[in-house]
This record gives sequence, structure tokens and C-alpha cells, in this order.
Amino acid sequence: MEEKAIVIVGARQNNLKNLSLRIPKNRITVFTGVSGSGKSSLVFETIGAEAQRQINETQSGFARNRLVHMGAAEVDSIENLNVPVIINQKRLGGNARSTVGTATDIYTHLRLLFSRVGRPFAGFSHVFSFNHPQGMCPRCEGLGYIQTISTERLIDREKSLNEGAIRFPTFQPGGWRLTRYTKSGYFDNERKLKDFTPEEWNTLLYAEEHKPKKPDSDWGKTVLYEGLFPRIEKAFLKKDSREHAQRKKLLKEIIIKEICPECGGKRLNKKVLSCRINGMNIADCAALPADELLAFAETIDSGPFESVAAELRRKLEHLVAIGLSYLSLDRETGTLSGGESQRIKMVKHLGSSLVDLLYIFDEPSIGLHPKDIHHIAEIITRIRDKGNTVLIVEHDPDLIRLADHVVDMGPSSGRNGGEIVYQGSFSGLARSAGKTGGYFSRSRGYNRTPREPRGFLEIKHAGLYNLRDLTVKIPREVFAAVTGVAGSGKSTLISRVMPLQYPEAVIIDQGAFTGTVRGTLLTYLGLLGDIRDLFARVNRVSPGLFSRNSGGACPSCRGLGMERLDLAFMGDIETICEVCGGTGFNPEVLKYEFNRRNIAQVMDLTVSEARDFFREDFSGDSVFMEKLNLLHRLGLDYLTLGQRLDSFSGGERQRLKLSKRLDSTGRLLVLDEPSTGLHSADTEKLMAVLNGLVDQGNTLIVIEHNLDIISRADWIIDLGPGAGRNGGKIVFEGTAEELLECKSSETGRYLRKHLA
Ligand code: ADP
Ligand code: ADP
Ligand code: ZN
Ligand code: ZN
Repeated sequence: MEEKAIVIVGARQNNLKNLSLRIPKNRITVFTGVSGSGKSSLVFETIGAEAQRQINETQSGFARNRLVHMGAAEVDSIENLNVPVIINQKRLGGNARSTVGTATDIYTHLRLLFSRVGRPFAGFSHVFSFNHPQGMCPRCEGLGYIQTISTERLIDREKSLNEGAIRFPTFQPGGWRLTRYTKSGYFDNERKLKDFTPEEWNTLLYAEEHKPKKPDSDWGKTVLYEGLFPRIEKAFLKKDSREHAQRKKLLKEIIIKEICPECGGKRLNKKVLSCRINGMNIADCAALPADELLAFAETIDSGPFESVAAELRRKLEHLVAIGLSYLSLDRETGTLSGGESQRIKMVKHLGSSLVDLLYIFDEPSIGLHPKDIHHIAEIITRIRDKGNTVLIVEHDPDLIRLADHVVDMGPSSGRNGGEIVYQGSFSGLARSAGKTGGYFSRSRGYNRTPREPRGFLEIKHAGLYNLRDLTVKIPREVFAAVTGVAGSGKSTLISRVMPLQYPEAVIIDQGAFTGTVRGTLLTYLGLLGDIRDLFARVNRVSPGLFSRNSGGACPSCRGLGMERLDLAFMGDIETICEVCGGTGFNPEVLKYEFNRRNIAQVMDLTVSEARDFFREDFSGDSVFMEKLNLLHRLGLDYLTLGQRLDSFSGGERQRLKLSKRLDSTGRLLVLDEPSTGLHSADTEKLMAVLNGLVDQGNTLIVIEHNLDIISRADWIIDLGPGAGRNGGKIVFEGTAEELLECKSSETGRYLRKHLA
């Protein structure tokens, strides 16, 4: 009998070359291939988007409103799709009200248990919620901390209002918020604030909103007066204030965040906190690491409510099984790493009894040590065995091995990708001709000739989070890898503590680019001007004409290339602008050509195509060509010149940032998991670039899990032995050869297996 399958016909999204394929149901299918080969275009933008769209059509208007709208995928048909569950690495929201407990629903079970078994009886279970008016601490409203404006930091008493006594941008001379005070008629604007009377101070800082008595201009008659503190609180501190997000950095300068004096950070009111089980209240429980809470839950005599306790234990076991035993339920989700966030999302689904879903994972190995990957592999297997279909985009060899079915994309990236190079069993992959198959059939080695460190830096007495008085040597001018299971303390040590002791450290992270809402690859590289000048010169017009932000913008979408439709009950949807067809350029501008291509067509060139296209116009050693060549060396050839910066993945952003540092010498450079998103073939390119940086006299530290990178480092610092409070120690430091001999290191153990 024919196996059940998802049947895809004619997929053409982005670079996909009219692909048709069958994906077996109730199996694990792993999609592999070099970066830019088209894995995401197929798995997320085609299969995921279409599955999402199909449910949207069956939902009521209300539910539809809550789902993300995506454009229709370019595909002829997809049959036999299931309801999708997409588990990506988007970090869980930074909202202070979202914690590990709330995000996994485990806190709900804990509340239920307290409402049944806790004494004295406090109410039903919602009063144990710090997000519920009857449960929250009245002082901090369930946040656990309070924010107060510091008068000392906000006000410079040595200055007058006109001299800029209020240290906040819009309250500075010339700022529109200052006029409310200078035209109120209450103050002498030239007098230094230290000479204000107590009454003036009171009016300036605390007065409630009112009509000013004798304003000194007509303007003052229409505007209400309000003291600085209530004003700033309303405008900036309210969590839904738009300005809050924009001014976060500046606010930090004037605000003091303190643990709430009423609840001591426990978020709940006194009545709720007085309710206990075996001497522990619910906040005490939420502060325990998951494995200790599990041990505590096992001691509870829950009598008739045993099923409630059993469900709580079952959920906690999931958290422990997935390698997050060190997290407490009260940990804010905004402080979790991407990998931790992804596993938290998995826990939620592990508990689910729904079957026949389509799970889609985006590189679940990120942030994970081979030992943690073992946990993840078990969980994914369990999800399949319950009767679900699992699709995974992945580079990690151990997860690729998990596949019942492999789809290898390639042969290369961008326009030279978008095809299926191999599909079938894992054992067949290793014998196949593509780049992925080549990796599995190749023999592996380690660095037998490590560079000699030129002395050492020292991080002394590190004591943050799970690190306890840790001192460690960082070798100079070599390639050092920092390893250890997730949660062992690598980022805390290297990304948090080290920069405090060595402020000159350059951290090249995967975070969003700042201040470039409308930026593209070209603007990031600073090369847009060169291309505009070229167009302007050959066409004898002004360069500004070729800008989507000014002269050349499409009049309809103002350069965005899309229109946002507000469908009231259905939420916003984005559609391609009909006037410019999505290019963002005024159609008039597209009449001008250079080498028979208009500006929009040039924006569409990939980096590798651009290197050919502009070969005659820019010499090989021009800045223009050098920058494109750097991207080539970093394996970013497949990006298009006009690709928007917000479309890049974390790994791509990190490599772009790295491209700006390649001429460094004598620096201390830090990269957190540079292998993110990289196929083994791309990893080779990255290694060449990183080794080049070390040869130029830089000290390089990478936090890594990728065994191909670790085995070739000059020096390895292994943290552990476990995660959270079971970690935070140095397990090993030395060369790869020595690590292979080290019996106490998990990393050493996996490295031996890897090289065998
Ligand atoms: P992979 O997931 O294998 O790394 P992708 O599916 O992300 O590859 O990309 C395949 C190709 O499609 C690449 O050339 C990429 O630059 C291009 N691409 C991806 N997303 C977009 C987009 N939003 N706009 C234009 N091109 C894109
Ligand atoms: P790694 O980088 O090795 O995965 P981390 O340095 O991220 O590990 O975490 C080490 C320990 O510090 C873990 O127990 C983690 O939960 C804890 N931790 C990390 N960040 C925070 C934070 N912002 N607040 C509280 N604990 C944290
Ligand atoms: Zn409080
Ligand atoms: Zn337009």
C-alpha cells in the first residue's frame, strides 16, 4: 500500500525551481543543504505558510484576526497538509509578566495544586496568579519590582530650566516638552534649581494635572500643566507607552528599578503568600529549579487531588527531560537564550495530547551541546511516535541521523540552488554526491599543531548567575573555543563578565541591526551611493533619483514596495504594491538603465552575480569589490543586494557584522555560536576567515557546540559539568589533543565519538 504523504506540486517560492515532492506522514523528515539553497523557502515559506493559510480559511473571523497573515506561497498545490505547529527560535517575549511557569503552563498546575491542597485556604486557583487583580501584589501590580524616577539623575540643580536642568532629551532647551514648564508662569526660567523654594520644587516635580493659573502665553492657556514625575510616568513608564520602547536606553539613566518592598519580588499579595504546602508558599516553589520543585512535588500528600499533583509532576518531568532542569518557574522568559526559548516551546507541545499535527522545527540544535541534542532527539522522536509529522531544517549531524527521510537541497545557493539533490533514507544520503553527503563520508581530524598562546588574559573572580568566584585564563592571539552544555555559563562568562573586565572586547553578536528600519544589504555595506552615482553618471541625471527613500520612491507605497491594508476585524495584511510591483521605485526611474539593467534589477542581483556584473566598473582592489569579496569569503554570496536587513537570520546578521571586522589586528574578538545556520561546507569557509583573523594578530574567542570547529581550535575552555547550579566550573582547559584524553569532560566524550 502507498504510504500517506504530503504532496507538493510546483513550488517556486524565492529560488525554488518548480519543485514537486512527497513528504511521508508520521515520519521525521530533515531538510539539509548549504545556506541559501532554499530550505526555508520550501519548509517555512511554502509548506508552513500554506498550512497556516489553510487553517485561516476554516477559522471564524475572530480567530483569524489572531493569526499571523502571510502572503500566499508560490506553489501550484499542496495536498494532505495537517494543522501546523511552527517551533522557531524567535525568543519568547520580553514581557515581565511572562515567565517559564506561565509560558509552559506549569504554573497553572501549581496554582491548581495550591488552591486545593494549600493551607490556609486562599480561594480558587486564579488568585494565585500574579497577573490577576485578586492575586497580584497591590504595590507592584504583579511585576515584583517598582520603578522610580531618580531626582538626582533627572535634575541638575546647578542649572536653570533654560540652561537644561532637566536631563532628558525632549525636556532640554528647544525640546517641545520643556515649554509646558517654561511657559507655565510658575517659575523663573533663569534661576538655578538649587535656589527654587520648596513650593516651586513641589510644583515642578509632583503637581497633578491642572490648568496653569497664570500662563505666560496663549499657548499655556490650551495646555494642562503637570509635574515632571507624573508626566514622565504617563508618557514613558506605562508599559503600553509607545515612547517607552523608543526611549528605553535613556530611561535607564533616570530610573531606579527596585525590588518591590511590599512583596519582596514575589509578585503576589500577602493573603496568597500565607497559603502554604509543607511550609512552602507558591512563590517559594516558583523560585526553585525545576528538578528541586519536582522533588518537592513528590513529597506532597495530595489526597483526593492526586491527579492534580500527578499532572504537575508530569509537566516538570518534561522540563527536566529536555535539559532545562536548572530553570525556575519564576524566571522571566525575556532573559532566556534562543535555544532555551525553543525548548520551552517544545515542553508545551510535549504535554499536548493532540495528534496528527505537522511540527516544523527551525534548527533545533542551536545553542545546544551534543549532550543536549541527545535530549532533543528523544523528544522529537516522542512527538513523532504520538502520530505527528515532523519537518526539521537542520545542519547538525546527530539530528540529521534522526531522519526517517532526508531532503537535501542544493546543489549550491541562491540561483544555483533551489533543487533537490537527494531524497531518501539517511544511509543513502551518506553515499550521495552532494555537499551534505560528502560531509558524512569524509574522515575527520583535529588540530594537531595548535598555535602557541602569546601569554594569557585573566578573567578574575567572575560571580554572575551560576558562576561562583571563577577565574580563568584566556590565551592571547590564538583561536579559543568555549564549550559546555547549555546553561553551563558560557555566555555569562564570555559575553557578560568578560566585557566588564575587558571593555575593549568586541562582541560580534546575532542581534538585530540598529537604526536601519528601511536598510538593505547595500546600505549596510555603505555601497548604495556607488551604485546610484554610476546610474546617475551614465544617464546624466541626479543620484537622488535612484533612492527609494527620496527622489525615486514609488508615489503609492512611498518606497516600501508593499501596502498595508487595515481590514478592521481581520487585522493588517501586507500586499505587494500594484504601482511599482514591489520594487519600491517610481516606475519612471526604472526607464534608466546601466548595462541593460534598471536599478530594481540591479537590486535583485546576488552578491556573486554583482561581482561579475560590476567587474568592469570597479577595479579589483576598490572598496566596492573588496566588500563584495568579503561576503563571498564568508559564504554570503547568495544574498541579494537589495535584500532587506530585517529578512536576515541571526547567523547571517552575525556574519555580516563580522565582515566589517575582517581587517582587525590586535583585537579581542568574541563570537557566540558563529556556526548558527551553517552547513558543514559553509563552516569550512568560516573557519578559513576566523583563522585569518588570528593570523592577523587577533585574540579570538568563540562559544561553540559544533564539533568540527571545536576540534580545530587551538585552545578549549570547557565549562560544566552540568547546567545552572550544577555548572559554572571549569572542567577542562587546554588543546584538542588534551581534551580527547580528558575523561571528566562531556565535550571530550562527544569529540572522541565524533572523530571515531
Ligand atoms: P536556506 O534556508 O537554505 O538557507 P532560503 O530558503 O532562506 O535558504 O533562501 C533561498 C534563496 O532565496 C536565497 O537566495 C535567498 O537569498 C533567497 N531569499 C530568501 N528570502 C528572500 C526574500 N524575502 N526576498 C528575496 N529573496 C529571498
Ligand atoms: P550557556 O551560555 O552555557 O548556555 P548561560 O551563561 O546562558 O549558559 O547561563 C548560565 C546560568 O545562568 C543558567 O543557569 C542560566 O539560567 C542563568 N542565567 C543566564 N541569564 C540569566 C538572567 N538574565 N537571569 C538569571 N539567570 C540567568
Ligand atoms: Zn510587589
Ligand atoms: Zn509602490
